[in-house]
Amino acid sequence: MGEFDLIRRFFQRPAPAGVDVGVGDDCAVLAPTPGQRWLVSSDMLVEGRHFLSTVDPARLGHKALAVNLSDLAACGATPRGFTLALALPRADEAWLAGFAGGLLALADAHGCPLVGGDTTQGPLNLCITVFGEAPAGQALLRSGARVGDEIWVSGTLGDARLALEVFRGSVALDGAGFAAVREAMERPTPRLALGQALRGLATSAIDVSDGLLGDLGHVLAASGVGARLDVDALPRSAVLASQPVALRHLCGLAGGDDYELVFTAPPGARLPDVGVALTRIGVIEAEPGLRVVDGRGEAVAHGLQSFDHFSS
Ligand code: ADP
Ligand code: MG
Repeated sequence: MGEFDLIRRFFQRPAPAGVDVGVGDDCAVLAPTPGQRWLVSSDMLVEGRHFLSTVDPARLGHKALAVNLSDLAACGATPRGFTLALALPRADEAWLAGFAGGLLALADAHGCPLVGGDTTQGPLNLCITVFGEAPAGQALLRSGARVGDEIWVSGTLGDARLALEVFRGSVALDGAGFAAVREAMERPTPRLALGQALRGLATSAIDVSDGLLGDLGHVLAASGVGARLDVDALPRSAVLASQPVALRHLCGLAGGDDYELVFTAPPGARLPDVGVALTRIGVIEAEPGLRVVDGRGEAVAHGLQSFDHFSS
């Protein structure tokens, strides 16, 4: 199977409405919606860094797009399409069928067609660029948090990190518990409906990819504010809730790979019900920095940091 057969077989499909030209020419041609702005984001997944070589290809396809859609969700965007740059060691048909299946199922679920890309031979590496739209001036940004705003998070935090600790051999779980947290790690759900529903309501938003402490820290820095965070209020799965406190704090505060949305909203804001739990976890304060407290308001010394590819 040559390069062009591979593209035709696994990645080329008829262009849907709104895409004048998709896979097959030198550029994709997309029709912008009047009054909307483009929102564009890229995320790369590198074998050994972001995923294990043994991961199921359909799950890898799902996750590669999910982490990108999560960035659109964090900005309140509606997906319009994506490109896929793919380096593959070899053209393994079973692997490609699984990968494309997982990828395109999630794309279809969110009306986000694959409109182009690049395919080369090399160490397994995936780079997706997503294109979305939001009404001019309404994208959710990191910079809008105001003193007195409440801090909210969707879903639960920490399961993906708990699964990683199991893979690393530092934690043991029973079969059902491991299956549940592994699902969170390998099949994250991008919170697109929530992000879109928060436009005009949330003052700031970010998705939790590197860990709550660091990602919330980005919001505080961009907004020029500080915060108080109640670690006992963090929403956790039953599996994580049954773990020792140090592990709960590690996974919840510094875990990463959660792809939940953290956002700020003024007290009393009427938050949307899109079928995902929302939990209030803190408040924005004028004093810079992030103060982690327990349920009684006592300072918690956690000594944790979020993930940073280049920290030593
Ligand atoms: P070019 O030589 O102009 O760079 P390519 O030969 O790389 O184009 O790709 C041919 C067509 O296939 C283009 O439309 C490109 O966008 C698309 N394409 C290549 N790889 C992928 C991929 N992995 N997924 C989707 N579309 C792809
Ligand atoms: Mg070309």
